[in-house]
Amino acid sequence: MNGNKTEEPKTVYIEYESSYIEICPYCREKSLEIREVVHQQPYLRKTLIISKNCKKCGFKKTEMLPLNPRKRRIIAFKMIKKEDLYVKILRTSTATIFLPELGAVIDPGIDAPYFITNVEGLLSRIEDALERIRVLEISQESEYEITKLKKIIKKIKEGKHSLTIIIDDPIGLSDILAPSGKVIREYVEGY
Ligand SMILES: [Zn+2]
Repeated sequence: MNGNKTEEPKTVYIEYESSYIEICPYCREKSLEIREVVHQQPYLRKTLIISKNCKKCGFKKTEMLPLNPRKRRIIAFKMIKKEDLYVKILRTSTATIFLPELGAVIDPGIDAPYFITNVEGLLSRIEDALERIRVLEISQESEYEITKLKKIIKKIKEGKHSLTIIIDDPIGLSDILAPSGKVIREYVEGY
């Protein structure tokens, strides 16, 4: 028990599956330790966690495989005031995020199996991506486009520009934790 009034859901260990040694895809040594554990994860529910750790070269990777997927779900939220920057976003690696005001699409992640961020954190990721594009491309057109987008992001962060966040998750486990009434969650039949 802690003193917090809003109790965060906790990760609960369920069962230990197995542990074995494989050949590392990077250093080719038989030194890749693979461990499989089943957890009851907040929001993701029952999840198989596969962690890979190479004792030789230091390669590390964690994958999460939700064992109780839901139906495909679209979640939409419109940020209209500055406080909305702190609304939490939970996104699985299978989900696509659309930000129409910025013309941005964040494709399903290959690296992060699952991440929790807030609107501000999401905007920072986009700013970082824009910076990387600025370094790689030097055309005036892209420079103009990047400057324009950065101005819009600045306005959003000041609460002077709206931002719509739409998440499309084929396994339906992503979510936007905004107060009820402000988020639309729609299950989509079929695919
Ligand atoms: Zn290795």
